[in-house]
Amino acid sequence: MVDSMKVEFNQPLYTGQEDAHVLSAMHGRCLAGNGTYTRLCQEWFETKFGFNKALMTPSCTHALEMAALLINVVPGDEIIMPSYTFSSTANAFALRGAEIVFVDVRQDTMNMDETLLEEGISEKTKAIIPVHYGGISCEMDVIMNLAEKYGIYVIEDAAQGMMASYKGKALGSIGHMGSYSFHETKNYTSGGEGGLLIINDKSLINRAEIIREKGTNRTQFLKGMVDKYSWCDIGGSFLPSEIQAAYLWGQLEQATVINEGRRHIWSIYAQELSALEKEGRICLPKVPLGCRHNAHIFYIKTVKQYEAVFLMDHLRSNGVSAVYHYVPLHTAPASRGISRFVGQHDHTTSESDRLIRLPIWYGMDEDDVHCVVDLIRRFYESKNAEEILFDSLPAKQ
Ligand SMILES: *Cc1c(COP(=O)(O)O)cnc(C)c1O
Repeated sequence: MVDSMKVEFNQPLYTGQEDAHVLSAMHGRCLAGNGTYTRLCQEWFETKFGFNKALMTPSCTHALEMAALLINVVPGDEIIMPSYTFSSTANAFALRGAEIVFVDVRQDTMNMDETLLEEGISEKTKAIIPVHYGGISCEMDVIMNLAEKYGIYVIEDAAQGMMASYKGKALGSIGHMGSYSFHETKNYTSGGEGGLLIINDKSLINRAEIIREKGTNRTQFLKGMVDKYSWCDIGGSFLPSEIQAAYLWGQLEQATVINEGRRHIWSIYAQELSALEKEGRICLPKVPLGCRHNAHIFYIKTVKQYEAVFLMDHLRSNGVSAVYHYVPLHTAPASRGISRFVGQHDHTTSESDRLIRLPIWYGMDEDDVHCVVDLIRRFYESKNAEEILFDSLPAKQ
């Protein structure tokens, strides 16, 4: 294996506009949260995506934790989510003492299988957390109908979903609440860490502003609605610094160009690798009708698990940083005793074991995309690959 990768997996987004805004925030001596840049960003999100309220947070993890506080998750509550997700999706609710109920994912999108959801619903279910994997939407109409039928909340983990949509609606705008991440590995970043809590259910807005300000009504005070502010509720420090908001602002102005740039890279992969898919060698991501994606992830799935191991090795030894994704949460040590898996379990583990994410970022050199594609083609063309694959099958006794 080579030490330095020729083609990195990700490069944090940097447009060059961030510097001026960060300096301006610094020199304006307005550094704490809820300043000019925070408000600019929040208004941008509300206007562009039709959110009733957008509140910037220090991370998407914080946004999910706020959501759990807002719907009063208490021990004994159950929260339904896919097992194929990041730990934060579960932690936010496990921190409040909830039991995590996992359902299987769909093979085509790696999203929560909406047809298995009802099986997981009990009288203890408080919320469903759809995770829009790779910025490709879950089947939200079905999920929202079930939530309405049983009177439960839907909180979209749209950490990967900014600039993606479902039937014309922005991801994050469909459930009662939603969340975005601006971590440096996501499509847009507020300088390494950052997030957004999206509130569509208006009845949750007032309390959200209190919880975010350490349980005080400081926001109302700043708006001149009360003449002193005091401790009103439980809360935390869920505000990012103005520096983070200023950094993000330098990217929002170019959000569409950036999205199209990523989608272009994604399409080259999809086109160039389609022949291998037709030959039955690999599977590519599927974008269901009505979903518009944001090219957050481009992955391929091999047919057999051991092929993924060899292909990964082949890519990495040729200087391409490809990576696996989630270890399903229900197999992880922290899930023991606080979670259960309901219904069929056909895809979560078997699909994730075969999934390899390829390098993608805004500004990635197209030659590098072709280089990755060529390496994958060569892997499948080479006689060597055939030998590796057949040799690794269990020998006949
Ligand atoms: C990145 C991510 C998170 C966490 O986001 P942070 O901003 O790093 O806290 C949560 N859920 C999913 C699905 C993610 O991809």
